[in-house]
Amino acid sequence: MSKNEELKKRGDAVIVGSYARYPAAMVSGSGCRLTDADGREYLDFLSGIAVCALGHCHPQVSETICTQAKKLVHASNLYYTQPQIELAELICAHSFAEKVFFCNSGAEANEAAIKLARIHSPKQRYKVISLSGSFHGRTLATVAATGQPKFHQGFEPLPEGFCYAPFGDLKALEAMVDETTCAILCEPLQGEGGVRPLAKEYLAGIRSICDKHGLLLIFDEIQTGMGRTGTLFAHEQLGITPDIMTMAKALGNGLPIGAMVTRTDIAASFVPGTHASTFGGNPVASAAGVTTLKIILEEGFLAGVLEKGLYFRELLAGLAEKFPNLLTTSRGMGLIVAAVLTEKGISHGTDIVNAMFARGYLMNFAGNSVLRFVPPLIVTKAEIDDFVAVLTEVLAAIDA
Ligand SMILES: *Cc1c(COP(=O)(O)O)cnc(C)c1O
Repeated sequence: MSKNEELKKRGDAVIVGSYARYPAAMVSGSGCRLTDADGREYLDFLSGIAVCALGHCHPQVSETICTQAKKLVHASNLYYTQPQIELAELICAHSFAEKVFFCNSGAEANEAAIKLARIHSPKQRYKVISLSGSFHGRTLATVAATGQPKFHQGFEPLPEGFCYAPFGDLKALEAMVDETTCAILCEPLQGEGGVRPLAKEYLAGIRSICDKHGLLLIFDEIQTGMGRTGTLFAHEQLGITPDIMTMAKALGNGLPIGAMVTRTDIAASFVPGTHASTFGGNPVASAAGVTTLKIILEEGFLAGVLEKGLYFRELLAGLAEKFPNLLTTSRGMGLIVAAVLTEKGISHGTDIVNAMFARGYLMNFAGNSVLRFVPPLIVTKAEIDDFVAVLTEVLAAIDA
């Protein structure tokens, strides 16, 4: 039995089967590459699901983690710690945010946003409107906020106070607003839902509905933030500023950390005792976050993300021309990129991803509609060329 097979067998025996895992146990990573237990290398265009933005084991981030781990690992939020303060300062210096609440994941960041929106709003208001096709997490409240029925099934009754507006329809959205509504929650670009960007005019319309009815606008930038789209946060490119924003995934380049950020006037509704997280803003995770953000903010880094993203999308557009039976077009922002599948392509979505995996190339099939690519932001054009060349072979074999 190979090492991968042995680990699969042991894992399946003791780990809850809530994931469909590929038959590989990853043991090390460097840059855009992962290595499994049998020594096989993979070119990773998934980045641990849009997490390792600086690539695997970025030397400066790993160094920071080791240094901080020898100094102080945890003290709790009953005390101040320097890494947490530094990370909050950095986030506030580079966004609309004035105050930050730290937690450990995306779902927790959205939970904090929903709780803050409710406690900050007039008493009778609790309802949060989100969009169909959205993804906001797997806890009960965030799954209720997620506008995809497949994530709800079997978990009813879900917490009350969530409804979903059809994607792209401002009239329908406004019609859902009533005296109980406190906020609108959306991703500037839907990630899990199939790399679907929200048009500028659509987001501007959502902003004006919020302003007109006194609602809070919450942007979930858990996947689109931290440079993924070519600006630190996606909404900067769209010219719309939210009242509350959530982030997680790439914030610690692999260490678990999430954050909910807002303005001072709104943050004032969270007072001692209203909300908490034991591990939130843990010194090691925060220190990793500081180093990660500093690198993303280095001169030229984000411009490189935009440039490589455009390059990648052009290659994918070329593939769509070459394989019209399987692909229709490419879309995305920065380095969150998708090849949109035709009906026939969708029926082969899983086959394509599996064939790429078998060749040592990692990607996924998102929203049951697109091939999604979220490579580390440090990816090179040569790595993009390599990836697209192999994808071309795989598509040719399936198209034949
Ligand atoms: C991944 C994701 C979440 C959930 O984050 P977790 O860390 O898995 O809880 C929420 N919203 C968006 C947009 C995401 O991409």
